[in-house]
Amino acid sequence: MNDKTTHFGYETVAESEKAQRVAGVFDSVARKYDIMNDLMSFGMHRLWKKFTVEIAAVRPGERVLDVAGGTADLSRAFAQRVGPDGQVWLTDINHAMLSVGRDRLLDKGINLPTAQCDAEKLPFADNSFDLVSVAFGLRNMTHKDHALAEMRRVLRPGGRLLVLEFSKIWAPLAPAYDFYSFKLLPWMGQKVAHDADSYRYLAESIRMHPDQETLAEMMRNAGLGRVQYFKLAAGAVALHRGYKL
Ligand code: SAM
Repeated sequence: MNDKTTHFGYETVAESEKAQRVAGVFDSVARKYDIMNDLMSFGMHRLWKKFTVEIAAVRPGERVLDVAGGTADLSRAFAQRVGPDGQVWLTDINHAMLSVGRDRLLDKGINLPTAQCDAEKLPFADNSFDLVSVAFGLRNMTHKDHALAEMRRVLRPGGRLLVLEFSKIWAPLAPAYDFYSFKLLPWMGQKVAHDADSYRYLAESIRMHPDQETLAEMMRNAGLGRVQYFKLAAGAVALHRGYKL
């Protein structure tokens, strides 16, 4: 096989295989995704997203792209801020996640343009958005550098990219966090979503994801400027922000 390899959690897989494996995870968890998010994070993912929305400081009339938007938590919050003259696109590579997201939005009376697309090949023109966000999605992408470059491409000059993602926890907490991630998470995944493997992948993919400083450097390498990050939950999560200068 003449294919480069990458990681899928702790497994080494062909690059061509990774997207399919990630799709398997999200196909499996889509229906239980929201309840599992609340359980696993003790509801804290809501605070991390609230913080992201604060830092995004979206203004009425802005155009926003939510990449890997899944069940649409950020899209919904942004939609409430851009007003009738703005626009928010909900996008994700996974049909099952997008369907849940769209249904949730429609239940709240919000109808947003939606696209099923790969963050590595965004179907939008250059300079189209004031803000691009990606929450807990970058970790799953095969070529994170391509995805970051694409997100920069579709931003207008002066626009900002926000990346909310799991990151490197403060070292003294690592043993407890490891116990929680590798023992309790898969157990909870089995009980609630009948799928321990997907939650084992979650724990492994977090460990394989670049730490705060490495991700900041990747964003600079993708052409973003004034890159800054905020550590949340003792570093277990980080919000990175960079601008297209
Ligand atoms: N943003 C939502 C949130 O914060 O709750 C969903 C996050 S969920 C953990 C990760 C999402 O990334 C999934 O919906 C998955 O389908 C999506 N994803 C994975 N790889 C992707 C890619 N290459 N392009 C776009 N979306 C991707």
